Amino acid sequence: MTKALLIIDYTNDFVADDGSLTCGKPAQQLENYIVSLANKFYENNDYVIFPTDGHTGDKLSPEYKLFPPHNIVGTLGQQLYDKLNTWYKDHKGSDRIYKFNKNRYSAFQNTNLDNYLRERKIDNLWIAGVCTDICVLHTAIAAYNLNYQITIPTKAVTTFTKHGQKWALDHFKNSLGATLV
Ligand code: ZN
Repeated sequence: MTKALLIIDYTNDFVADDGSLTCGKPAQQLENYIVSLANKFYENNDYVIFPTDGHTGDKLSPEYKLFPPHNIVGTLGQQLYDKLNTWYKDHKGSDRIYKFNKNRYSAFQNTNLDNYLRERKIDNLWIAGVCTDICVLHTAIAAYNLNYQITIPTKAVTTFTKHGQKWALDHFKNSLGATLV
């Protein structure tokens, strides 16, 4: 079984104190564990994938009315947060590292992620990052509908509210058949 670690939206705008849509400290506390997971996958010859919100400020985007501008392509806010950014820069030449922009919550919507995974016979997805009940959730639902096996490392995901975190973890387990570790 070939595995991939998807690290969703772990960027300055979602994680840093001054990020425009930040989950704040709870997100920052995931940092070391997420980096350790990236190392583990990479050293095990598995894949590390960074589906990253990349917006243009388009007023017709459905998110435009819901959230402040965030992860505008090319800005500091769209860069990966701190140690993960360093990790990415150190590994990005590898053919088992893949970073791409997405413009919806789901990493599969309008992207080539499904083809990328199928070409490499990757069938088990670990999904980490933020926010548990928004982009992680929508990515997990899409993965479920495409028959991927899903694992959620619970200490590598967070969101704005405790209620949202709990609800999403229950949903991954009870409705998407995910393994929580
Ligand atoms: Zn967004």
